[in-house]
Amino acid sequence: MSQPDFATLRCQVCGRGPARNLVIRRHVGMLVMQRFVKLRAALCREHGVALTKKYLGKTLLEGWWGYISFFVNWFVVVTDLVALSQAKKLPQPDVQPDPASQQAQAAAGPATPAADAATG
Ligand SMILES: [Zn+2]
Repeated sequence: MSQPDFATLRCQVCGRGPARNLVIRRHVGMLVMQRFVKLRAALCREHGVALTKKYLGKTLLEGWWGYISFFVNWFVVVTDLVALSQAKKLPQPDVQPDPASQQAQAAAGPATPAADAATG
C-alpha cells in the first residue's frame, strides 16, 4: 500500500495537514446567461467542509435560474457533494499550523484561495 497523497499536502487556507486536493464548483444561472466558478485547492478537513458548504449553499440559491442552468446545476451540486464527502473522510488537521503558511495567510487576508480566479 502506498501512502495516500493527502498525507503530504498542506491546507492552502491554514497550512495544516493532512489536506487533499478538492474541486469545488459554483454555478450562477441568469436566465439565458450563466456563470461557472471552479475552485481547485488543497484543503484540510475543516476548510474543505466549510468551503464546500459555502459553495454548495450559493449554488443551491443561485444555480437554478436559467433554462440550461436548471439542468446543468445538478452536475454542480453532485460535484460539491462528492467534494464534501471527500473532505469529511480526511482526518482532523494538525493542531499546530505551519508557520510559513500562516504568515502568508496573514498577508493575504482570510480570503478563499484562488477563488473565482478560474471560471468555466
Ligand atoms: Zn485548513
